[in-house]
Amino acid sequence: MDLLNTLVDKGLRRELPTRDEALAVLATSDDDLLDVVAAAGKVRRQWFGRRVKLNYLVNLKSGLCPEDCSYCSQRLGSTAGILKYTWLKPDQASQAAAAGLAGGAKRVCLVASGRGPTDRDVDRVSDTIKTIKEQNEGVEVCACLGLLSDGQAERLRAAGADAYNHNLNTSEGTYAEITTTHTYADRVDTVHKAHAAGLSACSGLIAGMGESDKDLVDVVFSLRELDPDSVPVNFLIPFEGTPLAKEWNLTPQRCLRILAMVRFVCPDVEVRIAGGREVHLRTMQPLALHLANSIFLGDYLTSEGQAGKADLEMIADAGFEVESADQVTLPEHRAMAEGGCGSHEGGGVCGTSAAAAPAGEPRTDLVAVRRRGAGTDLAPNA
Ligand code: SF4
Repeated sequence: MDLLNTLVDKGLRRELPTRDEALAVLATSDDDLLDVVAAAGKVRRQWFGRRVKLNYLVNLKSGLCPEDCSYCSQRLGSTAGILKYTWLKPDQASQAAAAGLAGGAKRVCLVASGRGPTDRDVDRVSDTIKTIKEQNEGVEVCACLGLLSDGQAERLRAAGADAYNHNLNTSEGTYAEITTTHTYADRVDTVHKAHAAGLSACSGLIAGMGESDKDLVDVVFSLRELDPDSVPVNFLIPFEGTPLAKEWNLTPQRCLRILAMVRFVCPDVEVRIAGGREVHLRTMQPLALHLANSIFLGDYLTSEGQAGKADLEMIADAGFEVESADQVTLPEHRAMAEGGCGSHEGGGVCGTSAAAAPAGEPRTDLVAVRRRGAGTDLAPNA
């Protein structure tokens, strides 16, 4: 297929595809799916070999958020039966992190619900980062605390944070439809602040919220412009008790097309499959490893993932290897660049028209609220 040959050539040269080419990936048919995966897989292997980076989430503070992000089980007014707790102490967070690291993760992502941290919160998280780094040599720490005020990114960097995550989530054009309590521009500003402080920027998207292919392409091209080092691709988990509970729009095939599009637009960036992997890719998860070079190990913030052992077995069975602590994630040209590494973008539909994504069957049976690990007395999944 000419489209795929063109995209492979561009990806190997780190050249940006056109928006039409990105849209065309999303519009490919199921008959072409394996060709799409094979093509994007060539680009993935060029820049990341067969390595899979494992990341581990520690939810420092769960639920009780005053913001109204419609996709989020922790939002204002959510009736999802999630765990709710306030800040974990540094030792509790470090203990949770250690479980993930023992399971093979090399990055710990410290996440807290809320609009953004107070300066007191930054102090707390700084203490936590220092504790984790003292107790776990060589660990990468990423903070994800919401919108940052002036000076906070610098303070996190000084405390030892390596990266900061703040997702754009969706296109600028549709942002106001999913959240009213802050703006797309607020989110872009925080990614800029992270970059400016010398933190490795991590910013991604959520697919499956009813967006069009054009919206997906818009957000992925916006991400590429922001030039983060890592791009998490979330697939909406339609939590009961949230406004998007009925948005079961994704199929495994569409998820693969989305990941392929992100890989073509952001060829040399860490593309990470994030929340919703098990729910939407299901038995097609191993194919997605040919597109993304990074996943989360174990559980997510408020929902359970498959067993950490199953993640490791899947990686081995698919012929990939877990990236070790002494391997550099990013290609040399990115790792050497100021601030770290990264780039991205995409959009589309499956097989038919770009306006109507084929609806997946609701699979509420696959959504399990997290009841173990951080914030509980039960052992974590790692
Ligand atoms: S995404 Fe973050 S800011 Fe938005 S409701 Fe959830 S926890 Fe709050």
